[in-house]
Amino acid sequence: MATIFSRIVAGEIPCYKVAEDDKFFAFLDINPMVKGHTLVIPKQEVDYIFDLSDNDLAAMQVFAKKVALAIGKAFPCKKVGQAVLGLEVPHAHIHLIPMQSEADMLFSNPKLKLSPDEFTEIASKISAAM
Ligand code: 5GP
Repeated sequence: MATIFSRIVAGEIPCYKVAEDDKFFAFLDINPMVKGHTLVIPKQEVDYIFDLSDNDLAAMQVFAKKVALAIGKAFPCKKVGQAVLGLEVPHAHIHLIPMQSEADMLFSNPKLKLSPDEFTEIASKISAAM
């Protein structure tokens, strides 16, 4: 059965898309730690990120870099942090999180509740910065 993230890529489940190329897809995390929290995934369905081939892992990181630079332009911050957990969704993903402090990377923090309009605005600001 397809993962929830493959269903998002296929358009079967809605998302707030940030960017896409032939191999990778970026969209807003639905339970963001901060505004601009974005997920980057390979379209290839792989659970563990370190099971990707060397070439695909490198290409995913280059794609994530473009998205991260755009997040930093759209949401001024000290740096955009990157994290890989993958304990909840069995489809490899990189979290990109604009940080004002180390505390912004604590996954145990309460998540933001944003309206659809806010999500739409955030996604378009990042897309426009790409
Ligand atoms: P992890 O697997 O890295 O522990 O966490 C998975 C992340 O995916 C979480 O931050 C969660 O909010 C996000 N997530 C889970 N399901 C969905 C979904 O259906 N749509 C979006 N946009 N994000 C999701």
